[in-house]
Amino acid sequence: MSRIIYVPFDHLNINFGALKSLNPATDVVALVESQRMLTGRDWHPERLFFMVSSARHFAQELRQQGIAVEYVQAPTTLDGLREVRTKYPNVPLVAAEPSSFRQMQDLVGFGVELVENDLFLTSRTLFAQWASSQKSLLMENFYRAQRKRLDILMEGTEPTGGRWNYDQDNRLPPPKNYDWAPYLQHARDEIDMQVARELSHSPTTTWATTRSGALMQLNYFVDKHLHGFGPYEDAMSADNWAMHHSLLSPYINNGLLHPSEVLESVLRAYSAGAAPIQSVEAFVRQIIGWREYVNGMYWHLGESYREENQLNANRPLLPLFKDSRATQMHCVSSVVADVEQRAWAHHIPRLMVLSNLALVTGTSPQEFLDWMRESFIDAAEWVMVPNVIGMGVHADGGRMMTKPYAAGGAYINRMSHYCKGCIYNPKLRVGETACPFTTLYWDFLDRHRESFAGNHRMSQQLHGLGKLSDLPELRIRAREVLDGLSAGEI
Ligand SMILES: Cc1cc2nc3c(=O)[nH]c(=O)nc-3n(C[C@H](O)[C@H](O)[C@H](O)COP(=O)(O)OP(=O)(O)OC[C@H]3O[C@@H](n4cnc5c(N)ncnc54)[C@H](O)[C@@H]3O)c2cc1C
Ligand code: SF4
Repeated sequence: MSRIIYVPFDHLNINFGALKSLNPATDVVALVESQRMLTGRDWHPERLFFMVSSARHFAQELRQQGIAVEYVQAPTTLDGLREVRTKYPNVPLVAAEPSSFRQMQDLVGFGVELVENDLFLTSRTLFAQWASSQKSLLMENFYRAQRKRLDILMEGTEPTGGRWNYDQDNRLPPPKNYDWAPYLQHARDEIDMQVARELSHSPTTTWATTRSGALMQLNYFVDKHLHGFGPYEDAMSADNWAMHHSLLSPYINNGLLHPSEVLESVLRAYSAGAAPIQSVEAFVRQIIGWREYVNGMYWHLGESYREENQLNANRPLLPLFKDSRATQMHCVSSVVADVEQRAWAHHIPRLMVLSNLALVTGTSPQEFLDWMRESFIDAAEWVMVPNVIGMGVHADGGRMMTKPYAAGGAYINRMSHYCKGCIYNPKLRVGETACPFTTLYWDFLDRHRESFAGNHRMSQQLHGLGKLSDLPELRIRAREVLDGLSAGEI
């Protein structure tokens, strides 16, 4: 053997990363299923099932192509790599740049030779060049630069359709009497069932664990959901958990799909007239904008960024995050129940329900981050840290987002059907039936009015706070709500 190619569980792609240069005649591929990865934390079983089954299927597919594979079960990744090295002494170990600071230190310390991670569309060097050329690191500026650099939805130097952004046409509330296409079910095979038995878990049929299943999901999304993606991307509904979202993040994140092929499918549908520009642009923005930006920011902001807590939020994680029955807030219990069931909720429940609640209750950013990281199927350090610390709970003092995504019940009432089935009233901020979000939104602004005083993007909210006539009463109700939430009684 001339090389050992180490493939982490989020690089499962034969055409990219270190496997791109694979020589099947002389290289051996190593995958490590580490006990620490399985038992180190309170991981959602659906997430473990997805990760392990995808990796075992990938190893099987490589073997079927005649490639030598060492699939090792070991206490830690490095123990596993040590085992492979013992079997193939004096053979260089190669991998693509891993996706977190910690893995990077481990692999470099172990003497692994790293090649560029091209499972993203933007290299870390390229992002660093962009960041160093900017006064402020606004996602919108990065996104426009990506559109030009990658020549996507461009006509010369102008955006296709004459606009960069269709947010004003999108952002619609959930429609009434709408026919949502059902979501794909993925059949389980013997490998899946073996992993399920080992984990003592009964998996859903929501998530594919193979490349062919991931491609089916991509095609199904493009056929059935892409056309409506834009208008309803921010809407939430108690009776439809995915709306028109793609459910592709787990596969793009573990390598089963490459972002470039997702883009190609979507752009092909646009060229064929199968989806309107406001949906196609909205989706392209997620893939070449948000996803690449978040990865770039993870590396740009550095390892200590995950510990930021500039609003001094120190409340322990609320019981409702671990148990959907521990709250009577209909929106929160529905979203947490969705996460319990499938380890997934779309962007707006993550941001405007879960993170918003952590933000306005002053929950410890690190406790909330750890819970999110453990609970979501698509979670990884590079993507959770900026999304939670920067976007979700504004713990970074505004380094990533210019203002916090704090909202009262009015926003959730406008964008969802949750409030109709709730014992609380989104319009009320004081009294026993006041919506906890509404009370805590104002209380949050009140508690942090000095921190936000210099932020012109917060001036309207602070002006509104100044006009509240019932602030003393609201402060009392806010204490009751915070105590009630901590006790699992709200
Ligand atoms: C607090 C918070 C935590 C999040 N944690 C994760 C996470 O751990 N893993 C993850 O992949 N996404 C995360 N996101 C981003 C986003 O919510 C998910 O990517 C999306 O909900 C996944 O579902 P989907 O594939 O149907 O996405 P769609 O709505 O169909 O979007 C298409 C794709 O765009 C990409 N994308 C969109 N927004 C983002 C973003 N902010 N960051 C990175 N990729 C993005 C994803 O690859 C996604 O598959 C988080 C967002 C928030 C607000
Ligand atoms: S009233 Fe408040 S708590 Fe109830 S569903 Fe609406 S936003 Fe959520």
